[in-house]
Amino acid sequence: MADPPSLSPTQLVADLEAHLRPLEVELAEAWWESNTNSSTAADQRRTAAELARREFLADPHRFAAVRAARDAVSATDDPLLRRQLDVLHDNFVPHQVPADLRRALVELETRVESTFNNFRGEIDGRRVDDNAIAEILRTSDDAADRRAAWEASKQIGPEVADRIRELARLRNQAAQALGARDHFALALATGELDEDRLFATLDDVDRATAAPFADWKHGVDERLATRFGCPVEDLRPWHYDDPFFQTPPAEGGVAIDHFFTDADLEALTVRTYDGLGLDVRAVLAHSDLYARDGKSQHAFCIDIDRAGDVRVLCNIEPSERWMDTMLHEFGHAIYDRECDRTLPWLVRGAAHALTTEGIAMLMGRLPRDPSWLRDVAGIAAPDVDAIADALVDAQRAALLVFARWVLVMTNFERRLYADPDADLDGLWWDLVERHQLLHRPDDRRAPDWAAKIHLAAAPVYYQNYLYGELFASQLDATLRARAGGLVDRDAAGALLRDDVFAPGASLRWDALVERATGEPLSAAHLARALVSDAR
Ligand SMILES: [Zn+2]
Repeated sequence: MADPPSLSPTQLVADLEAHLRPLEVELAEAWWESNTNSSTAADQRRTAAELARREFLADPHRFAAVRAARDAVSATDDPLLRRQLDVLHDNFVPHQVPADLRRALVELETRVESTFNNFRGEIDGRRVDDNAIAEILRTSDDAADRRAAWEASKQIGPEVADRIRELARLRNQAAQALGARDHFALALATGELDEDRLFATLDDVDRATAAPFADWKHGVDERLATRFGCPVEDLRPWHYDDPFFQTPPAEGGVAIDHFFTDADLEALTVRTYDGLGLDVRAVLAHSDLYARDGKSQHAFCIDIDRAGDVRVLCNIEPSERWMDTMLHEFGHAIYDRECDRTLPWLVRGAAHALTTEGIAMLMGRLPRDPSWLRDVAGIAAPDVDAIADALVDAQRAALLVFARWVLVMTNFERRLYADPDADLDGLWWDLVERHQLLHRPDDRRAPDWAAKIHLAAAPVYYQNYLYGELFASQLDATLRARAGGLVDRDAAGALLRDDVFAPGASLRWDALVERATGEPLSAAHLARALVSDAR
């Protein structure tokens, strides 16, 4: 490489971009392949791509050059150049660790994720995928069948728990070598998030949701007890349809799956975005949307090259959940697609994970929006009117349930990194009981926490979903005030494109949120939605 100090800040940024860009594109391609066609070769390609990128970002000379250039360029003189240097700085920091540790981390992460992609739980010796488990938990009235399905959803836990603890130890070792308390603290700091502010927001959310959630759950528990013919105190996690109780069970929502039985989810996705003047067809053409063996069972969106090749992975079934997920993932996709492509490559993309999650969540809420059901999904007006109040309640319930779940995940993750050797099995259920008001299964000792893939594959990411919900609620209020709403409104699409998507990461996320909504990000709009929507 050229001697870094000899380059001007502008030349340095150009030089680093020229090196980093092909590494990122190769990693994205390899990542896509390993998630759509899991194989040893795909895993090796991905590990190699990941290592190549991390080795580049580990270079101490380049990092020193970035730091020097960052000190030399002020945000007022050249905001875009300074912003690129800030982005580079935060990219380099976590990788300033010894080569053997870096390699150990990449190999372990890839192996654990490959286990997740290939593992299938078993019920009575029969392999079942996540969709089959969800189907039983959604429809069965038999507590024993439900319990077997729920337990199948947790069988991955013991397979990966030791390796996730080891990952946490290695990540901490890397973070501590850089002077951070642990990986949790370092990940927040290099992700432009303040830990004190995050936990203050979590407290706000806890306060705003505790009582309405307890009220709502009390009603749901009575209905579940009636359905399953047992006293409320005998209800256990498998009585609540989602394996982690991330979403409300049917008894606490509104049954709208039948609206989607014969629906074309791809067409509805295109139609939804067309209504905003946003075209997702190019993304659809590159996407992988239906379940098969050797493929990730989850859902995600990936921008391969920041030049238009954006892809979505889903495992579509005709249900509300997958409609929500499709609109969510294509929310990420349109954000990437509509980012101003004349921006420098380093800042071409979402301002932050929380802003792209916010857009995705705003869109994912639409299947429970009466005007979307009527005008986009084509459900007869009287059928929608008949459940209009129930839809409002269901939306509110979804927010409450998700917020309580994020409290579990974020608090757990902080404790995981504070002490990877702690009694995590017990801690998990303590948090679940406290925040989600579930009753832990009797006499169960198992690493149920480890079944949540994010702990292994997307560490210290979950807080972005909560911030995303806050941003979605805040944007929703802005769109109502300035565009009259969201569904089928060109003005709403234009606002999202101009004020949120186009600037990419040229602005820091907090500046972008304030510019787009007129106020700093807070829990106020979410809290208001929980109160004003209550009947
Ligand atoms: Zn998302």
